Amino acid sequence: MTYSLVSHLTCPKCSETYDVDTIQQLCVCGSPLLVEYKLDEVKKHVTKEMIAEREQSLWRYHELLPIRKIENKVSFEEGMTPFLFLPRLGEEIGIPNLYIKDEGMVPTGSFKARGAAVGVSKAKELGVQNLAMPTNGNAGAAWSLYAAKAGLEAHIVMPVDAPEMTRKEVSISGAHLYLVNGLISDAGKIVGDLVKERGYYDASTLKEPYRIEGKKTMGYEIAEQLNWELPDVILYPTGGGVGLIGIYKAFLELQKLGWIKEEKLPKLVAVQAEGCAPIVKAFDEGKTESEFWENSTTLAFGINVPKAIGDFLVLDAIYQTNGCAIAVSEEEIRASQREVARLEGQFICPEGAATFAAAETLKKHGWIKEEEQVVCLNTGLGIKYPEAFEVDVKTMEPFERIKS
Ligand SMILES: *Cc1c(COP(=O)(O)O)cnc(C)c1O
Ligand SMILES: [Zn+2]
Repeated sequence: MTYSLVSHLTCPKCSETYDVDTIQQLCVCGSPLLVEYKLDEVKKHVTKEMIAEREQSLWRYHELLPIRKIENKVSFEEGMTPFLFLPRLGEEIGIPNLYIKDEGMVPTGSFKARGAAVGVSKAKELGVQNLAMPTNGNAGAAWSLYAAKAGLEAHIVMPVDAPEMTRKEVSISGAHLYLVNGLISDAGKIVGDLVKERGYYDASTLKEPYRIEGKKTMGYEIAEQLNWELPDVILYPTGGGVGLIGIYKAFLELQKLGWIKEEKLPKLVAVQAEGCAPIVKAFDEGKTESEFWENSTTLAFGINVPKAIGDFLVLDAIYQTNGCAIAVSEEEIRASQREVARLEGQFICPEGAATFAAAETLKKHGWIKEEEQVVCLNTGLGIKYPEAFEVDVKTMEPFERIKS
């Protein structure tokens, strides 16, 4: 059996097709490309029972990943993250069937590891030596460390305000780190120059087709962890939207394989911060594309993306699943981060906390029904963002126990 049953790349905008065995970036029309598989072959040769016996990582779905040769796989055994029931928080916010998919439990402490694992593996398979990318932190950290393992050189451009921990991860990996006094969109322009002038592989969000394949495995795992039955609602902290596009793609593939029964897919919810909500604005206006969000700001750094290149795919996934898009405030993010830790013992990242704040609001407005099974995606570890959290101090006489 071949390791991958990948077929080709296709453009969701103009339907042009491309070969997966040579380097491809965007379609000539400017759209991101999506990976297609020989699903009939997968159906013939792979079963859910076979997958159940395999390694506890995203590579258990290797026929549905684009890496042809196992020796090109660059992995720290990422994936198959915990899927946990949150009864105490669920009771508090009136959603008794509340779950978390906890992506804090992956190498590098954020779910960017999934995209990096598959993206770097494929880059290695294609013979790439230098890759470049703009990042709000976590993607650069993950791609640098995976590139180090693969023996590739990474060139990472990051806003000076990005979480400091991620800067350290990039630096210690030996990657070339460039700091820019601006936003990820400004970093993107610098990467554009590096790519043009030096011929580097452009690993920017959705400018290479394989990061999304790593992130889609969250969708496969949610299905498998629920015994191949899908939940009613999935809330996703949306920056570039890669994970949301990927989860939707995963469900469509599972439907075609006949591995899930449901005709009806989970309602997908894009959660953004009030300080950077281009997808929410587009959704509220019934549009199919977003506009650049000026002066964006939020402590949830991973979702500070003023204009996503795959915005039309995010909006399509929301519309097709009868989902929605919602923005939450910085105060709500902080409050939810505290609530999740206080009631469930998990120190999640601000982006993940945003999904819980959104679930609470959607329940209050009746959009989420009490009986629905709801999954919030925590995309990283809270301990990666020490500067984003204020400590609640109690002093004890005669000595002060904690100072902050
Ligand atoms: C990148 C990132 C996001 C947003 O992911 P997209 O798939 O690009 O929308 C959310 N949370 C964290 C922690 C991130 O690093
Ligand atoms: Zn195209």
